[in-house]
Amino acid sequence: MIKRFISYYRPHLKLFTFDMFFAVVVAACNLYYPTLAKKIINEYAYEPTVAPIIYGALTLLGVYLLKAVGTYIIGYYGHVVGVRMQADMRRDLFRKYESFPFSYFDDHKTGDLLSRLTGDLQNVSELAHHGPENLLLSVLMLIGSFVMLFSINKTLTLIMFCVIPFIVLFTVLSRKNMSRAMKNSRRQMAEINTTLENSITGIRETKSYVAERHEIDKFDRTNALFRRYRSDAMKSLGSFDSIMHFLQDLLYLTVLLVGGIFLMKGRIDSGEFAAFVLYVSMFLNPIQRFVSLFEQLQEGMAGFSRFHEIMNTPSESDEGTLTLEEVRGDLEFKDVSFSYGEGDSETKPVIKNLNLSVKAGTTLALVGPSGGGKSTLCNLIPRFYSIKSGSITLDGVDIGELTLGGLRSSVGIVSQNIFLFDGTIRENVSYGSPDATEEQIIEAAKRANIHDYVMTLDKGYDTEVGERGVKLSGGQKQRVAIARVFLKNPKLLILDEATSALDNITEMQIQSALEELSVGRTVIVVAHRLSTVRNADRIVVLDSDGIVEQGTHEELLALDGEYKRLYTRQSRDESFVRAEEVGSDDKSLA
Ligand code: ADP
Repeated sequence: MIKRFISYYRPHLKLFTFDMFFAVVVAACNLYYPTLAKKIINEYAYEPTVAPIIYGALTLLGVYLLKAVGTYIIGYYGHVVGVRMQADMRRDLFRKYESFPFSYFDDHKTGDLLSRLTGDLQNVSELAHHGPENLLLSVLMLIGSFVMLFSINKTLTLIMFCVIPFIVLFTVLSRKNMSRAMKNSRRQMAEINTTLENSITGIRETKSYVAERHEIDKFDRTNALFRRYRSDAMKSLGSFDSIMHFLQDLLYLTVLLVGGIFLMKGRIDSGEFAAFVLYVSMFLNPIQRFVSLFEQLQEGMAGFSRFHEIMNTPSESDEGTLTLEEVRGDLEFKDVSFSYGEGDSETKPVIKNLNLSVKAGTTLALVGPSGGGKSTLCNLIPRFYSIKSGSITLDGVDIGELTLGGLRSSVGIVSQNIFLFDGTIRENVSYGSPDATEEQIIEAAKRANIHDYVMTLDKGYDTEVGERGVKLSGGQKQRVAIARVFLKNPKLLILDEATSALDNITEMQIQSALEELSVGRTVIVVAHRLSTVRNADRIVVLDSDGIVEQGTHEELLALDGEYKRLYTRQSRDESFVRAEEVGSDDKSLA
């Protein structure tokens, strides 16, 4: 972990060294004041003119100016180093997030992932530059003031330094306690982010169920827990601070007591006594720095260990090396079994020993009860999840041997949940096809029946969509998604309940775009409304035990089995709805 932390310094080594150099300059500057004070008391005060004092003061002014420059450089460039390192870590973390397989996001909460990317790394960056700075400054000043004090009076110095082991011991002992408290509060902050994210995402649901009180209570509980953990952390920090200050005060006390006696006994003179008293505060500065270093270390390392944990999580495995020159679109499942999760968290098999083959250019429909594994089956094709046993082949090549990039660019998916990115319509249509020309984008939009709508907008394809822009209807979003797939032009097309969330009229309009999209491709369509899959080359009825029956619409009806049962029930429901609609129309006419 430390090795990884240090590796982030490498690209910024020059700036970092520059910063450290000035940290040393500042530390050295600090040591001059007591020396001058001692000289004034013991020597310059007895000179016939004020010149030496003026010279001394001028030198000190020079030293202070240098210190001012040094402080500016530490404050500015030091933070710049920290910010750059933080940006590098954030870059790596984001790349890592992007590399994770689907399953990772099933098990991890967005809020938690967010807080690692923001708050945690902020603390790490504070540690990254203040840490070494504080360490170097405190060590140097400790050594410097020791040398200075030792040259004034050995015994007094040694007595003073006796306090240090106590301070170190105390620091080490408190460390464990504080680190646990900090970790708890950090974890709870992530929990707050998660709750918040969840509540905000679900706010429409909350409003429609008038469940605001429930959400508020849930949030309050998480918040209260954070308050408690944070208070615990602050309690240990508070007692740490107070004892630390007390030990420092003991140092003042020792110097005054022992120094006073030494002065009285004539073992030191008044100049030395004054320098001693002043050096003690010089001596305390590194101790205080040490304390803040310690706090930064707690927070920063807690953050870094969470960062490290993610960076050590394996990315999506992409061991395939083959790419198909030209994809025909023959798909075959041989004895495929799949269950979600790994090891202890593995679920019972969702797909068991499934055999299925889809000829290039044909359409296969998957129907059956919900939970039967239809979406899961679709997700296996682009290897969003890896199968446990058996094989899936595309044009006779095991998809595990294909590169993920190659495989996925030959699969297009339109599903029920369309996600549009913040950006313009053009960006959304050409998502994944950054090189598409304007003509290609318009052509795709026309084929998806969205072009005419786009033309009605003031800014046309430059219209912003998403949270900050125009709100598209479900059907319009669907068309943007279809245009996206037209542009991608994949050989395999997966339509996973693509129109299920739409009303009948919109569904019919989208259906024609989908039919055009399907031409010349191998299509797997999952549909809830069986009327939309009647024309499929083959229909497979899938339930949790596997394939129940398969054939064309007519064959399945003739079979008089599960499909027929589902179909008849739906037809009855639909004609009932249609009758209702007609009925209500009649009423409105009357
Ligand atoms: P269908 O599309 O036929 O409705 P799914 O493929 O969505 O069925 O689900 C099949 C089974 O797999 C269900 O029992 C469901 O609970 C489970 N399942 C779906 N997605 C996940 C997941 N990401 N993690 C664990 N189990 C899942």
